Amino acid sequence: SALFAAVEMAPRDPILGLNEAYNADTRSNKVNLGVGVFFDDDGKIPLLRAVQAAEKARLAAMPARGYQPIEGLAAYNQAVQKLLFGADSQLLAAGRVLTVEALGGTGALKVGADYLKRLLPGSKVYISDPSWENHRALFEAAGFPVETYPYYDAATRGVNFAALKAGLGELPAGAIIVLHACCHNPTGADLGVAQWRELVDICAARRLVPFLDMAYQGFADGVEADAVAPRLFADSGLSFFVSSSFSKSFSLYGERVGALSIVTAGKEEAARVLSQVKRVIRTNYSNPPTHGGAVVAAVLNDPALRQQWDEELAGMRERIRAMRSSLLAKLQERGVQQDFSFITQQRGMFSYTGLTAAQVERLKDEFGIYAVSTGRICLAALNTRNIDYVADAIATVVK
Ligand code: PLP
Repeated sequence: SALFAAVEMAPRDPILGLNEAYNADTRSNKVNLGVGVFFDDDGKIPLLRAVQAAEKARLAAMPARGYQPIEGLAAYNQAVQKLLFGADSQLLAAGRVLTVEALGGTGALKVGADYLKRLLPGSKVYISDPSWENHRALFEAAGFPVETYPYYDAATRGVNFAALKAGLGELPAGAIIVLHACCHNPTGADLGVAQWRELVDICAARRLVPFLDMAYQGFADGVEADAVAPRLFADSGLSFFVSSSFSKSFSLYGERVGALSIVTAGKEEAARVLSQVKRVIRTNYSNPPTHGGAVVAAVLNDPALRQQWDEELAGMRERIRAMRSSLLAKLQERGVQQDFSFITQQRGMFSYTGLTAAQVERLKDEFGIYAVSTGRICLAALNTRNIDYVADAIATVVK
């Protein structure tokens, strides 16, 4: 039949395409700096000890696999709320927040986007320039026009806050703005606390609808410190959305553990909004899978496992920091004149290095080192064995 005869090949995902090219490369010293995954110093994806302990206990208990509620596991959703807003949050005490388990951070964004399309069908979505590439695709797929607000400043390798404020100051009431809560992907450039305060004021004054994407809580300064954005928004009295991902912070990528939290004006409103979000979930995948959320809940709700997770998370965070300072030092040792000190100021897994597309191409062709053509590298792919080779290569292509 001719059903699929006219179907065109979809464009390749640029980062997955990079992985394919890396996998096909036969050089033994090749390095993949393109991926967004945390590797340990042996280049492996860790299985955290806290996760192993929770999984062993779960396996021993051999729980039946009935359906979960549409919104997922209550113990998990409550634990997520405490991570975002703090254990003694007034917002939580007042019942203003509803949280649903979701399939990773992506699933949370998707459920949030679909619900927003029903709530505000005529709105536009604004994402940072640049942003995680899936933000645009996701909100467009939900039916929104997607535009950008100014964010990154290539000259300072930081945030152009004046331009950001001016850009948001022009948006119409009801515009949805997607904000990276911490560890901005792809640039690594975050707002400071005072800047977040100003931003919250602008959102309140312009009646914007903030959607915070929290994909790296704990990867910048720690779980509590990294929650500054949701907590400042919480204090403002505004209603807003937060997507959480535990892919990185629990190293549970494939288990698809995330959550969508929505802050409303009060308890009764929260119940109404939850009932609508459940309809979105019911018609997407009905209810979330059991394992990942149960494991994360077991860790977060057990004091000993929670402490172990905090320590392991600190270990991941510190390893990335160590790679940042080591890369900077090694570039300086190699006589690189260009100022790379921004590498140690940027936060999270990524750095916008300022390497040009041509320099990235040379890294690949001459050294088997793969980075995104925008110059984004993942610091968590560096380790004590490949960092000298990478520093040599970068020093060569920037000279
Ligand atoms: N949001 C941002 C900014 C991300 O970088 C990522 C993952 O790379 C996600 C969301 C999605 O996370 P998940 O893998 O849990 O769907």
